[in-house]
Amino acid sequence: QEPPRHLRPHVRRRRFRHPRHPHSPARTPGGTPPMTHIVVLGSTNMDLVAYVGRAPELGETVTGREFRTIPGGKGANQAVAAARAGAEVSMIGAVGSDEFGARLRAGLTAAGVDTDLLRTVDGPSGTAHIVVDDEGGNAIVVIPGANGSVTSLAPGDETLIATGSALLLQLELPLSAVTAGAEAARRHGVRTILTPAPAQPLPPALLAATDLLVPNEHEAAALTGHADPRAAADALLRQVPEVVITLGGAGSLYAARGADPVTVPAPRVRAVDTTAAGDTFVGALAVALGEGTPVPDALAWASSAAALSVQRPGATSSMPYRTEIDTA
Ligand code: ATP
Repeated sequence: QEPPRHLRPHVRRRRFRHPRHPHSPARTPGGTPPMTHIVVLGSTNMDLVAYVGRAPELGETVTGREFRTIPGGKGANQAVAAARAGAEVSMIGAVGSDEFGARLRAGLTAAGVDTDLLRTVDGPSGTAHIVVDDEGGNAIVVIPGANGSVTSLAPGDETLIATGSALLLQLELPLSAVTAGAEAARRHGVRTILTPAPAQPLPPALLAATDLLVPNEHEAAALTGHADPRAAADALLRQVPEVVITLGGAGSLYAARGADPVTVPAPRVRAVDTTAAGDTFVGALAVALGEGTPVPDALAWASSAAALSVQRPGATSSMPYRTEIDTA
């Protein structure tokens, strides 16, 4: 009997051509697998970060120490993670017509991500206004800006999605577009990998078109009402065929319908900054699965990638390159 569709290897239809990333390793015939193509439909945000001793209360003003603008957004972060992990990556979404938009696009291009279908729309780019205190605690206001204009697929999006081994989705774009993207991928037999962040109720149509759901433990609890990851995984498997719940330094829990759940330990490392660990994990996991790596090995490889990222500061700046993951 044939395995379920989502577990079968994905057949490449058309090889997507993209200039090789300057940092990606040379591939020898018969050595490393052919590059897989990952499409990301997601957000780009400029993170505006204020570093303070203590965050202000409402109505209060405090003097901070430092200010930084850091390209981010979960979609863009996953795109960079997948590119560093060795995939050809295309980003679908929108940046604004402001300076941030130009920087966000340039940052993705520099990371080797194809931005041909990343539109520029009139108005501001997405921004995340972040206050980080001396204890590493943070408070964040996200203003979707251009991301909010992506309410549906644009001409060409579905054709591009069809060329991928996977479509990576998160919830920082309007749900109508996320759902349309997942449904388009489904029509073409492309694996859909959804990070349900920020946590919110998921429309049945989106769940129905999701192959692999990757919440962290808080998102899994918010979606199911179960604090225990195994109970949450059980509940989620009623809605999607495969789930990975990331558990921070405790690793991750993989569950698929009809199989016993598996805990994947995280390498023991000294974490200095876990920002975007989840995005690094998902990006690397998509690459490994797209290359046909069996699920347990793909999870271990993604865990190595995420463990490398937590040992370095920053979001995309902390994401490892393929050679580092392979030799970790
Ligand atoms: P973020 O929101 O910061 O991107 P997240 O909350 O989505 O992260 P986590 O569950 O914290 O996701 O982490 C994702 C993965 O990163 C984990 O499954 C694990 O493999 C790895 N990881 C996170 N923290 C650590 C750590 N302290 N040591 C080793 N690996 C870690």
